[in-house]
Amino acid sequence: MAEAQFRTPKGTHDLLPEDHVFMTYIKKAVRHRARQAGYKRIETPLFENRAIFERGIGAHTDIVEKELFMVSSKHGTDDDSQPEFALRPEFTASICRSYVEHGMQQLPQPVELYAIGPCFRHDRPQKGRYRQFNQFNFEIIGLKDASLDAQLIQVLSRILEDLKILDRLCLQINNIGTAENRGAYVEALKDYFIGKERNLPDLDRKRLETNPLRLLDSKEEDTQILLKSAPTLEQFLNDESKAYHETVLEYLDELGIAYQPNPGLVRGLDYYTQTVFEYWDESTGAQNAVGGGGRYDPLIELLGGSNTPGIGFACGMERTVWQMKQAGIKPPNKDQVDVFVAQLGPEAKKTCLSLISQLRDSGVHTIGALGEASLKSQMRLADKFGVRYTLLLGQMEVKEGVIILRDMAAGKQKQIKFDTAVPAIIKLIGDKNLDTYMLKDHMGEEDG
Ligand code: AMP
Repeated sequence: MAEAQFRTPKGTHDLLPEDHVFMTYIKKAVRHRARQAGYKRIETPLFENRAIFERGIGAHTDIVEKELFMVSSKHGTDDDSQPEFALRPEFTASICRSYVEHGMQQLPQPVELYAIGPCFRHDRPQKGRYRQFNQFNFEIIGLKDASLDAQLIQVLSRILEDLKILDRLCLQINNIGTAENRGAYVEALKDYFIGKERNLPDLDRKRLETNPLRLLDSKEEDTQILLKSAPTLEQFLNDESKAYHETVLEYLDELGIAYQPNPGLVRGLDYYTQTVFEYWDESTGAQNAVGGGGRYDPLIELLGGSNTPGIGFACGMERTVWQMKQAGIKPPNKDQVDVFVAQLGPEAKKTCLSLISQLRDSGVHTIGALGEASLKSQMRLADKFGVRYTLLLGQMEVKEGVIILRDMAAGKQKQIKFDTAVPAIIKLIGDKNLDTYMLKDHMGEEDG
């Protein structure tokens, strides 16, 4: 095969049909569990005013410092002012912006929203880390209660269970206290590292300056060794955070959700308070978390709204697909073609168009009238498409009002009356296997 002249940009991928069936399946599970728990779907723009991410997520987080894809609304290069927009690296900040913008505090609280779609991070692409990837995302905004934390985690757990990958994953959970708790802890951590900076790897020495909490989930061995005798965040939690955490864990027990308390789990973003959690694949740990989230009580206020609590999670769909493939899960594929209609001659070609159309309207997946090749090569094509039945219509058949029905697997064929072709095929395929649906019953659910 010739080398393609154009390829997808680094860190992006075509979602080919064989992978799309996984995505469709995941979305189905997501929509199903969302509806059961009263979440409504929201969609926000792919790009936003960059300040929404910078303020919400935090200027010194990896996502903002290194990974924001900037977008300029200006055309041309003569303007060297800073770009105004950024592609969304995640959903939470955008959804909170939307909550404030549309006055959703007037709605009954909490407001439960979910979103599915692409996010963008300008990271160095590597396995499981792309520049464009898809997330499904759930948020509960406007009411704070430990039972909501537990129920949110349960939704994620149920989806992972539906997709048959829950048993490959392990829920890590922690409480990182309030902003004040973390402030006091960060001071203590900085004090502890005075005189020890030299022993820190470069990146972590920088983090000590800009975002010391990130040291806790550092992958550097030297840092982890130093942290062994450092003060812990747990020692700085106020009583309310400790009690809240206990209650969340109690509720998770009540719901039968397995978890592993992880005092080192902080998640990188500034907006998190108290509950944070991630689902890890035990073999790769934090490196390739499948999903994660936490409570972000200060975020809405940071974005100009009133003091409003919130909690949410995001799950990476590419990593979910990878887990499903590792687990040998094959999503049901409804893309198979049932019938190939082969024809020869202008009359037959014209006649078979309405036959194809009738079959399709009856819910039979049908292709045909693909060109003017010989019947023999059309049959070969039918075979390659893997159809179960072929209908053959030549000039003779048109004249006599008949058609040939061939069972591809059995290699047998018979002549039947043209008018009986559609009911004959329906009978062979079986009513319950027909792909029919009433748009009014499914409006807005099967797309996206
Ligand atoms: P985060 O909020 O950064 O933990 O992201 C939530 C989830 O999105 C992660 O657990 C991953 O499954 C997924 N994710 C985040 N960044 C990427 C990326 N660059 N490529 C693919 N998936 C990602």
